[in-house]
Amino acid sequence: MKIQLQNIITNRKIKINEKIPQNKIKLGENAKLVSPITINGFMEYAGKEEVYFEGTLKAKVILTCVKCLSEFEQEFEIPFSESYIPEKFASGNSGRENRELEELDVYTYNGIFIDTEEIARQIIIENLPPYPLCPVCRAKTE
Ligand SMILES: [Zn+2]
Repeated sequence: MKIQLQNIITNRKIKINEKIPQNKIKLGENAKLVSPITINGFMEYAGKEEVYFEGTLKAKVILTCVKCLSEFEQEFEIPFSESYIPEKFASGNSGRENRELEELDVYTYNGIFIDTEEIARQIIIENLPPYPLCPVCRAKTE
C-alpha cells in the first residue's frame, strides 16, 4: 500500500493493518515467502516531512539449511520502529542538518508516499538469518 505523506500530515496518526500477498514481494534466491505478510501498527507525522512507523510484521518464509541443504519453514514475528525522511534531506552536500541525520538510523522515502510493501521487504531481508539452520541441524549443534 502506498501511504501519501499528505494523508499522514492531515491525520497526524494513521493505523496500518495490512495483508500483503506473498507474490508481491521478492526476497531473493535464498528465501521464499509462503504466507501473506501482515503488518499491524501505525504511522505518525513527526514534522519536517518525517514519518515515524511502528508496528509488528508477521510472515512465514521457506529457508534452505546451510548444513543439510533441506528446505524448512520459519515463522517471523518482527517488531519494528523506524523513521523515514525524504530522500532530498538525506543526500547531497553535507550541511549541518544533513550531518546530524547521517548519525541517526533513518530510512528514506521519495517525499510523496511511503510504500509499505517496500518497507516490509526491507524489514524481512534485514531479519533473515545469515546462516539458516533447519530444526534438525539446530538440535544437533545445541
Ligand atoms: Zn539442516
